[in-house]
Amino acid sequence: MNSETQAIQPMTFDPARLQALRASLQGSALVPGDEGYDTARQTWEATTFEQHPAIIVLPAAAADVVAAVNFAREHALPIAVQGGGHGHPHPADGALLVNFANMRGVQINAETATARIEPGVKGLDIVQAASQYGLAPLTGFAPTVGFVGYLLGGGFGWLVRQYGPAAGSLRSAEVVTADGRLLQVSENSHPDLFWGLRGGGGNFGIVTALECSLYPVKEVFGGQIAYPIAQGKEVLRAYSRWVKTVPNELTTALRIVHFPPSPALPPDLRGASLIVVLACYNGEATAGEALLQPMRTLGTPVYDTFAQIPYSQVATIANDPTEAPPVFYFRGAGAFQDFSDGDIEAIINTAGNPASGIFVVEIRHFGDALARHSEDAMPFALRRATLFLVAMAVAPSPDALATGKQSIATMMQAMAPSATSEMLINGLGPENASPEQTRASYSPEVYRRLVALKDQYDPQNTFRFNHNILPS
Ligand SMILES: Cc1cc2nc3c(=O)[nH]c(=O)nc-3n(C[C@H](O)[C@H](O)[C@H](O)COP(=O)(O)OP(=O)(O)OC[C@H]3O[C@@H](n4cnc5c(N)ncnc54)[C@H](O)[C@@H]3O)c2cc1C
Repeated sequence: MNSETQAIQPMTFDPARLQALRASLQGSALVPGDEGYDTARQTWEATTFEQHPAIIVLPAAAADVVAAVNFAREHALPIAVQGGGHGHPHPADGALLVNFANMRGVQINAETATARIEPGVKGLDIVQAASQYGLAPLTGFAPTVGFVGYLLGGGFGWLVRQYGPAAGSLRSAEVVTADGRLLQVSENSHPDLFWGLRGGGGNFGIVTALECSLYPVKEVFGGQIAYPIAQGKEVLRAYSRWVKTVPNELTTALRIVHFPPSPALPPDLRGASLIVVLACYNGEATAGEALLQPMRTLGTPVYDTFAQIPYSQVATIANDPTEAPPVFYFRGAGAFQDFSDGDIEAIINTAGNPASGIFVVEIRHFGDALARHSEDAMPFALRRATLFLVAMAVAPSPDALATGKQSIATMMQAMAPSATSEMLINGLGPENASPEQTRASYSPEVYRRLVALKDQYDPQNTFRFNHNILPS
């Protein structure tokens, strides 16, 4: 705990009003000192991200959320919302935190190929439930990310080039607004709000359930192939050419990663610096083998994990950690239509050097079905770019991030002429969660429309612990 958070004084509530709230809930309400409060205020980054809400409501049903919103309004408390806990742009200090940890129901309707999910559901929960019917949701890379928070930011996963972003799979949602109304939201009911939920983040209300489409996917050909960083420029050049030629059933990514010399790692990864191509092909293994062949014949790989796998194992492709490492992060991101030779030099010369302080660069391959959705249908950017790069510095303390921050700035500066200046709120971390960054994640016209929606549904900015759209 740092000195800033120690200085936060717990708020005291009138015992009778607190008791009345508790009596009205199917779930529970916790204040500092209550058993369970310290667990319920934790996010995914349990060791490096601190927050001290005035009160935490753990709902069991939508009616609990209505009660929580009314309690917050009576006490003039802002409201923070937590699903999977991977987003949290701002600590919910002094707020009423609605934590959906106990609402993780998933119901699959195989006939309509839809899922009804509760707001605590994580990517893996819905993948596993749907896979029993040969169906798949449009989840992202990491299995523990909350599906609702991910979808509200657009939601970009392994099927994005074929079926589009998760936001496009939204059929309907139940939403509790800042004035305590429970709305049924769909294309035909509150269509303005429906649009805002498909990329505008948690700015307009609290989603207590949603229905989304599922897609016919049983097995995919996927995995990773890793080469030593000494081959970095050659692999990145080949990758940049190759991604322009592949069909939309194939979504790919590329990572530059520096492993620590940890004895917990397999011997050939300890201290290794690698360039890794990742891919997911929704089709037969033979066609997948042929499509991936140009990336799998660039030399002697350090490892190659490509195989035909059931979609229930899709998280093994990215192999993102299910628990956050106990380190501090700084991220920089940029969108590109293509990489010039100069960009490839800048990426490999900077991020390819472990002394840069950059631990990982991840380049996501978008375009195709993603770019076909108009901004009139969904408010997120990245209609022009096909490559989205996130560079991440990590360090054991915030001060020790200085070298990595400087390296990211230098690399992004060198690549600025190629950047499309598009941004995604799902690519922003707590360190770049200013309202200006949020505004820059949308086109000016879309942002104006989002502000109008905010004015209508949350004029007091009750929901502000997010990538915040400020009311006018
Ligand atoms: C390891 C990792 C991998 C990731 N991979 C991807 C990826 O592949 N593709 C991608 O697009 N993004 C990815 N992200 C980004 C991620 O989708 C966003 O950070 C997302 O907001 C996380 O949602 P959450 O529910 O887990 O987080 P939370 O911290 O619980 O929520 C984040 C925000 O979402 C809003 N929110 C959540 N639930 C609700 C609700 N029920 N009602 C209203 N608002 C709500 C709130 O504003 C909240 O502040 C990744 C993030 C991490 C840390």
